[in-house]
Amino acid sequence: MSKAAGMTQMGSAKPNAFENALEQLRIAAEYLKLEDGIHQMLAHPKSELTVSLPTKMDSGDVHVFTGYRVHYNDARGPTKGGIRYHPNVSLDEVKALAAWMTWKCSVADIPFGGAKGGIICDPKHMSQPELERMTRRYAAAIADFIGPYRDVPAPDVYTNAQVMAWIVDTYSQLKGYMVPEVITGKPIAIGGSLGRDKATGRGAVFCTVEAAKVKKMDLKKATFAVEGFGNAGANYAELLQGYGAKLTAASDSKGGVASRAGIDAAKLIAYKERTGSVVGMAGTQPISDSDLLKSEVDILCPAALENTITPDIAKGVRAKAIVECANGPTTPSSDKILDANGVFLVPDILANSGGVIVSYLEWVQNLNRLSWSEEEVNSKLETKITGAFRDVHAMATKNGTSMRTGAMMVGVGRVADAIRILGVFP
Ligand code: NAD
Repeated sequence: MSKAAGMTQMGSAKPNAFENALEQLRIAAEYLKLEDGIHQMLAHPKSELTVSLPTKMDSGDVHVFTGYRVHYNDARGPTKGGIRYHPNVSLDEVKALAAWMTWKCSVADIPFGGAKGGIICDPKHMSQPELERMTRRYAAAIADFIGPYRDVPAPDVYTNAQVMAWIVDTYSQLKGYMVPEVITGKPIAIGGSLGRDKATGRGAVFCTVEAAKVKKMDLKKATFAVEGFGNAGANYAELLQGYGAKLTAASDSKGGVASRAGIDAAKLIAYKERTGSVVGMAGTQPISDSDLLKSEVDILCPAALENTITPDIAKGVRAKAIVECANGPTTPSSDKILDANGVFLVPDILANSGGVIVSYLEWVQNLNRLSWSEEEVNSKLETKITGAFRDVHAMATKNGTSMRTGAMMVGVGRVADAIRILGVFP
């Protein structure tokens, strides 16, 4: 059995992501004085699908991967959420990510509910043909569960525009006609939106600009560190650098690099593309993940995976602001520590909503057979995410809460309103 195929669901000592999501919901429900029935509805995913994916490996063996797709809540519209390929994918993780998508779409005020999908696999040890066969089998297995008006997937960790293209093709072959609007994050040639590839990082930068206004921070003099120099993190770094801020540390799964003099984000992107990692970039010193998270910077951007800011790390965080490009990087107990220490945290469901906002714009273009310029897309993104930041900041200020709780109150509150208006069937 190949290394990739041999992956099973790995246990983890880290907190359960779905329990974290439920705890965040409980806090918001308390502030919002939610009816118990609605709180219960919001604590349960609408439907969960588990699929077995027999896949022919290059060796000739067949390996059965496990995949998931969870629809969390669709009161505000078709469900929306990415597909993750990672050895640590679990049903609970997918449920947590699907819940966060629900609140995120609601905070951004776009007409989508929340969903998420994933396959337990290690794409780094799979060939392109193996990935394609596994992806197409997954697309076929979930074909009746997704759809332009039902559930619209997108990329997430270790999936990309090519994976989206295989899914749209498989879905369309089964339907008998081309359905680009079934998925977002597609290549431009088949209906992808200009600006989608950098949207998450760009949206997080617009949030950082707003956060800097609140904290009276001059971005031209600000320093920042990025944990997880991938799609979201690297684009964030390059775009924030455009505002004059200095990148002093960055990491990926192979290690981290630091330089007080500053690291050119564009050069680091090129270096990582060439070598596969940020490690060893000229003019930098190695830095461990925990040292990066605790480094002396103005802005910290966790952009890797969940639960990296544990309470131990939180106690050592010296950044004035945290902008969560990743989903769920901060545990609820770490939130309390950061809040007590006066760290201004822009929570994931706001900070990284640029991706889903431009996904929404892609879906609207596809449904209407339109094609907008990148400037038009970026400007609509800025309007939407800046509006969301202001809604959240106003809610947090009015209730004397953290931005996380403010965002949850906005997100959960709007979904609860939709449920009240729809009523409970039958
Ligand atoms: P990606 O695969 O492009 O990048 C992830 C990066 O994190 C990689 O560079 C990887 O090497 C690094 N990484 C993994 N484990 C690490 C570790 N232990 N320490 C340091 N770095 C580590 O994925 P992405 O799309 O950029 O997603 C990153 C995070 O952002 C995820 O939490 C994802 O859910 C979230 N997010 C992404 C988007 C998007 O549009 N890409 C949208 C919303 C949220």
